[in-house]
Amino acid sequence: MEDKLLVGVDLGGTSIKLAVLDWEGRILLQWEVLTDKEHEGRDIPVQIAQSIHNKLEETGLEKNRIVGIGVGAPGPADPETGVISEAVNLGWKSAFPLGSILMETLSLPVLVDNDANCAALGEMWRGAGKGALDLVCVTLGTGVGGGVITGGKIVHGKGGAAGEIGHIISLPDGGAPCNCGKNGCLETIASATGVVRLAHELLLKNDQVCELSEIFEDRGFVTAKDVFDAARNKDALAAIVVEKVSFHLGIALANIANTLNPDKIVIGGGVSRAGDILFAPLRDHFTRYAFPRVARSTALSPAMLGNDAGVIGAGMLIREQLSNL
Ligand SMILES: [Zn+2]
Repeated sequence: MEDKLLVGVDLGGTSIKLAVLDWEGRILLQWEVLTDKEHEGRDIPVQIAQSIHNKLEETGLEKNRIVGIGVGAPGPADPETGVISEAVNLGWKSAFPLGSILMETLSLPVLVDNDANCAALGEMWRGAGKGALDLVCVTLGTGVGGGVITGGKIVHGKGGAAGEIGHIISLPDGGAPCNCGKNGCLETIASATGVVRLAHELLLKNDQVCELSEIFEDRGFVTAKDVFDAARNKDALAAIVVEKVSFHLGIALANIANTLNPDKIVIGGGVSRAGDILFAPLRDHFTRYAFPRVARSTALSPAMLGNDAGVIGAGMLIREQLSNL
């Protein structure tokens, strides 16, 4: 299968990332298109198919070298049927048969899974989890995504919603409302949105001048990056936010690690780019709350693939299936 190629698709609410990969998961071609959310997202499969077709035409790559397509989608997925049960970001309010439409349009094997699961596979295959078979991947972006892999296989759960790490309850009483309809989920604290919310809450109560308050005064808002940059400069208010985020994330990861004792918990997404200012207190809290043997054997590692984890993992997904045929 060495000369055969795979296509990985990372379907997001804003853009669709696509890549042609070789059999080892190396990216040969990579491009991105804006997601067509008109008509409640019904045109998305055709858009994906057309975009792949156009790219092959443009580059002269022979279509018959592509042996399969993997797709990561932002919602609970059933890889058996290729159905995404719901994807609010795409306009899919009910079950959407993404896999079967794509298979029909492209006349190629297609496998669909949740985007966070694909990112976890990508990191396992070519990123921070290389060589690990038991891996948990946490993505700290606009929301908090999670993917769990044990023995090299994605854990899907009965309803396809395993690994919803972002919806672990961190604050059972009085937590902020979450997109899922509950309150106090980890996502309301450890996502970029959560970091900003915590900072704004403190800034509105604060009457002292500091780096963060000056940005807030100037611009009317702060970003998660502003918070971590200010914390690096020893800004007291930013430090309170970072402490809160790393505390709740540390407890959640310790509980996950106590359950699974994976080789690694890989942490990616925009917030993870904060680096040591987040990872140092996070490791402290993790070590404090994890079972001692778990704390010694499960490592917390920053993700390595950035935005490419999704397309690489989607390629891995279809490669696995084709290898098992
Ligand atoms: Zn939630």
